[in-house]
Amino acid sequence: MTFEAGARAALSDAQLRGALRHATTLFAEKRRAAMATAPDWEGARDRARAIKDETLLHLDRYLDQFTASAERAGARMHWARDAGEACEIIGRIGEVLGARTVVKSKSMATEEIHLNAALARRGIDPIETDLGEYIIQLAGDTPSHIVVPAIHKTKAQIAALFVEKLGIAPSDDAAALTAAARLALRRRFAEADIGISGVNFAVAETGTILILENEGNARLTTSLPRTHIALMGIEKVIPRFADLEVFLQLLPRSGTGQVLTAYQSLLTGVKRHPDDEGPDELHIVLLDNGRSRMLAAPVTRQSLACIRCGACLNACPVYRQIGGHAYGSVYPGPIGAILTPQLIGIERSAHLPYASSLCGACRDVCPVKIDIPALLLHLRAQVIEQRAGKSRLLERVAFRCYTAIMARPRLYEWTMRVARILRIVPPLPAWTKWRDLRPLAPRSFREEWRAGLRDEGVS
Ligand code: SF4
Repeated sequence: MTFEAGARAALSDAQLRGALRHATTLFAEKRRAAMATAPDWEGARDRARAIKDETLLHLDRYLDQFTASAERAGARMHWARDAGEACEIIGRIGEVLGARTVVKSKSMATEEIHLNAALARRGIDPIETDLGEYIIQLAGDTPSHIVVPAIHKTKAQIAALFVEKLGIAPSDDAAALTAAARLALRRRFAEADIGISGVNFAVAETGTILILENEGNARLTTSLPRTHIALMGIEKVIPRFADLEVFLQLLPRSGTGQVLTAYQSLLTGVKRHPDDEGPDELHIVLLDNGRSRMLAAPVTRQSLACIRCGACLNACPVYRQIGGHAYGSVYPGPIGAILTPQLIGIERSAHLPYASSLCGACRDVCPVKIDIPALLLHLRAQVIEQRAGKSRLLERVAFRCYTAIMARPRLYEWTMRVARILRIVPPLPAWTKWRDLRPLAPRSFREEWRAGLRDEGVS
């Protein structure tokens, strides 16, 4: 489905728009209230961005340091150049361990590499355990928000789904629905051979990974099965443990409007003693998948500063109307519009940089001050560069003519007079498809001005 078709379908779905309006408005209000509790919000944003910029500038060094620290703590490190390699690494670990079921938590990166399908092909059953992801998996759907994957579903739809898939009695009580999911998932946790999670931050200094969550399922995923596999984009690394202080101020407040999430799991290596909690084996998979290409230029490098809070989605006037599915990418909204073309190639996602009004709301709310509109313009320029042949030639000729006319006042006046007399309307179908082009005024401003001066007797 094209972006336009997806957007049209979303716009005509009153239930979807109601769910989106309710959720994004609520998150924006909670975010504003939580921000007010931070001692120095702007200062924290600046510090976080400075840490990210410094890290990304020396990413090779910090990744080496993280690898060495994590290995010292007992983790086994793996490097994946792309999605295929990451799936192969994780699938192979599963096969060697004879895994039949894996439980998963908190990982957009596994969505990015389409891990579930890859595991299913090897006969391994992946079970999502975040409530939103679980709902999406039961429904055979795809996530539409990076923090709230089932944001497009109403409570009534979820209740009907649980009646059908979990065999519960009909109920519109959110607590009863959550309890039903918890009961079904407990069994899956108990039988899982492997837990697979994402990573919010990885500390180079100590080899620690941090996972933030509210449901307790990430903690179960990472501590109950004997093997834990953590998949992280290479941009998740930060230099020092102390740096977490600033990111812990920003991420929960921006993401869910909380001062802090209910659980913060700090995991350093494997368990040391038989009676300790935690896995016997910890595998950390470092995923590139196009990220190192983004490091090349400062404008694209800033995409890797993203901490996946989702605030830009909730603030975006386009996302708020159409939701995430129309974007046709794992990462929707403004961050998806800049990440996806860089991850999978501009030729496969040329529509995404245009899925924005460039109003700048995303830049204003971003806790790490990513200039998303500047990136969108940068990517639009790449789309134009790639456009071959006639349309590009015509565009160039049109802009040359426009420049020549606008740079010469007399030529401009003469052209406009001719256009007015002959009632010429510029051929701008892409513009006029959605907007009215106002007719030319009977007299130009300069003619009005001169007439005014004449009436006042000024020659
Ligand atoms: S771009 Fe900024 S606002 Fe959007 S998800 Fe990333 S950190 Fe959050």
